[in-house]
Amino acid sequence: MALACYNTAMEPLLKHCRLCPHACGADRTAGEKGICGADARLFVARAALHFWEEPCISGTVGSGTVFFSHCPLHCVYCQNAEISDGRAGAEITAGRLADIFLELQGQGAANINLVTPTHYVPHIIDALTRAKGRGLSLPVVYNCSGYESVEALRLLDGLVDIYLTDFKYMDSALAQRYSNAPDYPRAAKRALHEMTRQAGKAEFDEKDLMRRGVIVRLLLLPGCLEDAKAAVRYLYETHEDGIWLSLMSQYTPVHAECLPPELRRPVTPEEYEALVNYAIALGVENGFLQEGKAADESFIPPFDCTGVRPG
Ligand code: SF4
Repeated sequence: MALACYNTAMEPLLKHCRLCPHACGADRTAGEKGICGADARLFVARAALHFWEEPCISGTVGSGTVFFSHCPLHCVYCQNAEISDGRAGAEITAGRLADIFLELQGQGAANINLVTPTHYVPHIIDALTRAKGRGLSLPVVYNCSGYESVEALRLLDGLVDIYLTDFKYMDSALAQRYSNAPDYPRAAKRALHEMTRQAGKAEFDEKDLMRRGVIVRLLLLPGCLEDAKAAVRYLYETHEDGIWLSLMSQYTPVHAECLPPELRRPVTPEEYEALVNYAIALGVENGFLQEGKAADESFIPPFDCTGVRPG
């Protein structure tokens, strides 16, 4: 397998891969695919301005968003299955990824937003190092599932400015049932400590765009209000104002026939309102709410390799 797509100094990271908490040990340099579905090659499904993140990330100009193919988690309710299972995406080199970052900066992006980057950390380090050497000056957003290895996150210290992370479950039985990762709560808690250590307290510019900090996303699932409340309590009691909370109502039952019965409906306004009221009663002030219809598929862009290949 050709290894020209990333810095060979990073090769040991892919030789016995432990980049995510699965630590499945795949030899990606030999063409083996891990649980995430990725071998050593880098696949990207879309690179474009994106307007559907939190206001301090998208602003009015859009976030320069790079959607990576494959994913270490295989959530049964995945909204982006087309990319997470690797059906969408084109192979590129780390050099091309660096070009993409600079092209997004040239388009006026508010930041560089790396979506589902976990399994490509070596390639991303290579590309960011190249792009920064060529004038990339935007904040870098690591937009992830929360199922992260602390050791891999430490490699990004100084390269990433903003962590935009999910916090999916407090209950490991739910994590097993919906994401086949019973260790998710423990892994996500550890990862969040490392993210807050690196990013520090949030800072915003004069246009209210985040320059550095941590945003934790909590996607409310139908029937999971109590777990979501427990997550909000844990996050607030542990991190207080060190993080911003984003309470999300946008759960969409894509391919409902394949889902467990309890997930075949949107979240009700009453469930979401109960979660918001709970957070307010706790004292949460740094946060984002979602307004509008819960089951709105406009959040999902086309994964047609826009912006991926050289223009
Ligand atoms: S990133 Fe992929 S290959 Fe590496 S440990 Fe995780 S699942 Fe395995």
